Amino acid sequence: MNREMVKMTWTEFRDAVSHRPVILPVGSVEQHGYHLPLSVDVITSHNLSLLLAEEIDGIVAPAIQYGYKSKPSSGGGPLFPGTIDLNGDTLVHQVYDILAEFARDGVQYVFLMNGHFENEAFLAEAMDLATKEFPITTAMASWWDLIPQDVVAQVFQEVPFPGWDLEHAALTETSMVMYFAPELVHMDRYVEEPTFERIPYHRYPVKPGLVPPSGPLATARTASAQKGQMMAQAVVQACAKIYEKTKK
Ligand code: ZN
Ligand code: MN
Repeated sequence: MNREMVKMTWTEFRDAVSHRPVILPVGSVEQHGYHLPLSVDVITSHNLSLLLAEEIDGIVAPAIQYGYKSKPSSGGGPLFPGTIDLNGDTLVHQVYDILAEFARDGVQYVFLMNGHFENEAFLAEAMDLATKEFPITTAMASWWDLIPQDVVAQVFQEVPFPGWDLEHAALTETSMVMYFAPELVHMDRYVEEPTFERIPYHRYPVKPGLVPPSGPLATARTASAQKGQMMAQAVVQACAKIYEKTKK
């Protein structure tokens, strides 16, 4: 069965939407250190969406590739070449328009699989505005929020857990890409930086020199594809449960 919307014909899509949920991956184009590609947040959300689609008979929509502005305190910030950010308004309108179009085509339910920390509030805003206007149910989760404590403990056996905002281009994201797209991981270029102290404030304009020069906010040294697989399986199980809870 075809799980990807872009590979379906329009009649296949038309005939599926009344009884199959749509899964919309949302990512970013953002620096992820010397060792990972700019599309980590898209690779992760897209591949988690494909696995979830198997579980819930879903249709994976084309990913939203760009995201809200990277922040120094959670993603390294806008000063790295290749970090291409959207204004909040733009992202809200883009997601709203897509949800509205799905609703007009008869889609009953959209699950937004978020892969980028800074997107959350803007996705929630678009979901709120769209569901006030259109008869459609939406749910959204960020994958790192769905990893149970026992899996976090197993992944962080060798190094301390720094908090999810600092897990940028670090152990968990690196492990996810090792699992989903190992050919895009360059551990030979990875450099271990001194421990980064979380920045507990936001300053605009953003100043250079706040974050480690290579980009990751915590260590990726102990990443592995096996850890990525363990996290992906836990996330997909959690998403399937969220779907059962939220579809009616
Ligand atoms: Zn990321
Ligand atoms: Mn990100």
